[in-house]
Amino acid sequence: QAKSEGRDAYRIFTAAMDETVKVRSTIEEELRLALVTGSDLRLFYQPQVDVDGQSIIGLEALVRWHHPTRGMIAPHQFIAIAEETGLISSLGEWVLRQACLASKRWPDLTIAVNLSPVQFRSSGLAEQLIGIVREAGADPRRIEFEITESLLLDDSDLSRCALKTLRQEGFKIALDDFGTGYSSLSYLRRFEVDKIKIDRSFVQHLGQQDESMAIVTAIVTLCRAMGLTVTAEGVETEDQKRFLSQTGCSEMQGFLFSHALPEEQIEDLLISLRDRLGSQGNATLASYASGG
Ligand code: C2E
Ligand code: MG
Ligand code: MG
Ligand code: MG
Repeated sequence: QAKSEGRDAYRIFTAAMDETVKVRSTIEEELRLALVTGSDLRLFYQPQVDVDGQSIIGLEALVRWHHPTRGMIAPHQFIAIAEETGLISSLGEWVLRQACLASKRWPDLTIAVNLSPVQFRSSGLAEQLIGIVREAGADPRRIEFEITESLLLDDSDLSRCALKTLRQEGFKIALDDFGTGYSSLSYLRRFEVDKIKIDRSFVQHLGQQDESMAIVTAIVTLCRAMGLTVTAEGVETEDQKRFLSQTGCSEMQGFLFSHALPEEQIEDLLISLRDRLGSQGNATLASYASGG
């Protein structure tokens, strides 16, 4: 009895597995096609602000996939598939090309582009990225690559070399989701990065959790001592904003200021954000947060 139940459970399990595999390979094929045509992929932009300097410093480029039948597919659903299938390289190239156009459109802003650790596994990544930016006629100093801690943990010469080449070309490097990986602070010394982005998970509990406040304070102090820029991700409330600003972190990104928006809406947003950052009033910017 127990044995046959076990077998049934196993059968159901493998059926579900087969289904998952099927969906994944369908998504893989469709993503491949989307990359060839480029039509269902879109790049959204989320503003990065300097609350104390009362200015907009940059935009983070975040990819979106509007699937004709499945609807909107979030990055966390397809980036992993792109990484496993090697499609991440073409996706990364496509994203960077779009980001270069955006950077020419807003020459006073930095455009942040996410890079997957998988992209660093192929040799010649730096040269490839440099080629794309040169071809587009964009200024490398206006482009910031966001990498994750896991890349630095690999400790491979390949990624270290690529990062060095990119910095020499004038690109900035930011360490994304800081604090979530298996952090060893020593790599901050070994790898050259310009900026640390404090992960949303710490920002979320500011004002409620002593640990989060202690961690954020420590990160900000460390960054300042090392001459690194520090940005807070996922700022959603005025309280979080106030705490960060008082702690010495004035660069922020989050729904309090704006969701990620399509290019057409960014121009209007920039104008209203500028007004509001500069104004003395305490108007919340959340009314501009739509879509995302
Ligand atoms: P990320 O690079 O850490 O990007 C920040 C994510 O947090 C974005 O989600 C953004 O929409 C979301 N976010 C921003 N502010 C807030 C906030 O105040 N509250 C909350 N709850 N969320 C906020 P998104 O666009 O879904 O992207 C998820 C992840 O997918 C990104 O995390 C990044 O790791 C990856 N990703 C997105 N675009 C690309 C890309 O072009 N290439 C690569 N390799 N990865 C990408
Ligand atoms: Mg990012
Ligand atoms: Mg992040
Ligand atoms: Mg994050």
